Formats: sequence, structure tokens, C-alpha cells
Amino acid sequence: MSTDPKPIYVTQPYLPPLDEFIPYLEKIWESKWLTNNGPFHQQLEQALSEYLGVEHIALFTNGTIALITALQSLRITGEVITTPYSFVATSHSLLWNGIKPVFVDIDRNTFNLDPAKIEAAITPQTTAILPVHCYGRPCNVEAIEKIADNYNLKVIYDAAHAFGVRDAGGSILRHGDLSVLSFHATKVFNTFEGGAIVCPDAKTKTRIDHLKNFGFVDEVSVVAPGINGKMSEINAAFGLLQLKHVDKALARRKEIDATYRQRLEGVKGIQCMPVDCENEINFAYFPILVEADYSMSRDDLFHKLKDNDIHPRRYFYPLITDFSMYRGLPSAHQDNLPIAVDTAQKVLCLPIFPDLEDEQIDTISRLIAEQ
Ligand SMILES: *Cc1c(COP(=O)(O)O)cnc(C)c1O
Repeated sequence: MSTDPKPIYVTQPYLPPLDEFIPYLEKIWESKWLTNNGPFHQQLEQALSEYLGVEHIALFTNGTIALITALQSLRITGEVITTPYSFVATSHSLLWNGIKPVFVDIDRNTFNLDPAKIEAAITPQTTAILPVHCYGRPCNVEAIEKIADNYNLKVIYDAAHAFGVRDAGGSILRHGDLSVLSFHATKVFNTFEGGAIVCPDAKTKTRIDHLKNFGFVDEVSVVAPGINGKMSEINAAFGLLQLKHVDKALARRKEIDATYRQRLEGVKGIQCMPVDCENEINFAYFPILVEADYSMSRDDLFHKLKDNDIHPRRYFYPLITDFSMYRGLPSAHQDNLPIAVDTAQKVLCLPIFPDLEDEQIDTISRLIAEQ
């Protein structure tokens, strides 16, 4: 059946050569400093703020704890406007803070929160907007900022997909009040598990640093019910090594994206996302839409690829609003989210990762193109 002996998953973690990691481990063993703002942790914060082109960054144990803490650091309460077309951690971070998510539909071209639909969802209880730069493609940040300014709302970007993404003015992470990254193994840049909050000023970073360390400000003072959100030295060391290889990884992703587009061009009923000429994106995902005029349904194509040991993912299906803890909310109703509902029925994310070979792209594309 399979033309390739090994299964191809939607992503594969990017690992630098193991022998390059050994010197980092030796240093940790020597210093016996395993966590709590150790030397590698400090170095990674410095290196990432330079690489990403942002002023302040606070590392976390994962992106979800970073999201939860970001909301707490700005004392967000009441209702927050967010997208149903994301990974569940986005809206889970609201529930963990006792905040009510209010879902707004997405834009058909970017799959990001549609700014034109935000205003109608604002109530006296609304305190913030939590958009996602879905697939690493920038939200309409200007439009969102304008609404936030008009209604005095905070904006926290879930930038879990948006490592290294830049618009004409610089890092996409500079927008909004805070941006949250994930360094999970499946992401473009990973520390096995990890995450970060990008903050605009030193004062906010200090507050976030307290919150991620149980609320301690010194040996004897605890000022908030903080959590343990710290990144360990081993994860930080791996991040430093990974950072040395990340440009190479991003360049290969760009090639893969271009190859898929070439191979799938003209296949009836298969639609790739439009090429983004305005921003420097990271090619974190390669979503296609399986339209009604394709020869089989999205799910049949999904299973056909699986039968050939190729494992794409239906990101994002089901929608967040389909899960039981959200389904009952008035804003979760299908009629409120027609584009998100339609997209979730059609989308398939194809394998994309730096070690994916051209031959494998050919195999995947051939299976999709033969009708
Ligand atoms: C991965 C991801 C998260 C969660 O990050 P973790 O580091 O896995 O906790 C949050 N939001 C989005 C959109 C993600 O893709």
C-alpha cells in the first residue's frame, strides 16, 4: 500500500544533533542549578528577545499556563471575545480564570477573528479580546486595536502559532497588551514543553515573573495566588540550542509550502490558503480546504491518506464551541459562526516539518491529485 516505509505525521519535532546538546547538560550537572531563573533561563530570555525583536519576554513551563497567567496579570474578568477556530487551550484559559468566553466568527480568508463582527458582541461586561494568529498568519491587528481603543478593552494575542512572524513594522508579537507563545514539541520552535509571554514593559514582566513563581516577590512575601509556571534549565538549554538552528528550519518550511502549492495547483476542489505577500510568516501549518467539487469528502480524503500511512490533522475540527463545556453558550450557536462551521468541515492540515522530504511531498500530493 504505502510507497513510503515510515508513517508521515502532520508534524515531527525538530531536533538538533544530540551531541550538540551534551555540553549544555554537562553545565547543568556542574552548576546543579536545575530551575528557578537559572543561567540558561536568563540566556534564553535574552536570546529570544533579540531574535524575536521584542523588549521583554517571560518564559513559561507551557503555553497554556502562560495564557492563564497573562489574563491574570492584566486582571481580566467578566466576558472576553475570542475565536472558536483554535486549539481548546485558548478558551480553556478563560474558564480557568472564571471568565465567560464570547465567540465571534472568523474571516474567510485568514481564519482569524473577523474584526467586523467584534463590536456586536461587546457588552458592559466585556473587558478584553483574545484573538489567535491562526496558522501563524497575522490577525487584522489595526482593526482590532481600533475597537479595543474605542471600548477600552485589553487585547491578549494567543500567538502560539506565530513564532518569528513579522509584519511591515516588525515582530507581530509587539501588538496588543500581551502576546503568548507556545514552545510545545509540535510547534515551529520548541523546548519539549514551554511557552512565553511577550510584555511591553519591565513592570509588567516583573508582575508576570511573580505570578509564575507562586506570587513570591521575595523570600518572605507572597502578593498573589500565583502558580508554578517556571521553565526548567533543561528546557531553556534546549531552546538555546534550537534557536541556533531555527532559521534553517524556517527556510525549509518555506520551501515545503512552495512545493505543495506547485503540486496541488489546479487540482479541482482543493484550495490552498492565499500566499501572504505582506508579512514574513513561519509556514507553521499547511492547511487545505476540501471543497464540494472535490471527488470525495474531506473525511474520505483524510481516511484515504491514513490508509497510506500519512496522517494529516483536521485542525480545527471539532470547533471549540462543539465541546460540552462551551456548547451551551449563546455565542457558541452554529448560526453565530457560519464561516468557522464551514471551514471546520473542509479543512485538512497536511504534514509540514523541516525533515519532510520532497519525495514525501510528491507522494502526498499525488494521492490528493489522483481522482
Ligand atoms: C499549542 C497551542 C496552545 C497551548 O500551548 P501549550 O504549550 O501546548 O500549552 C494554545 N493555543 C494554541 C492556538 C495552540 O496551538
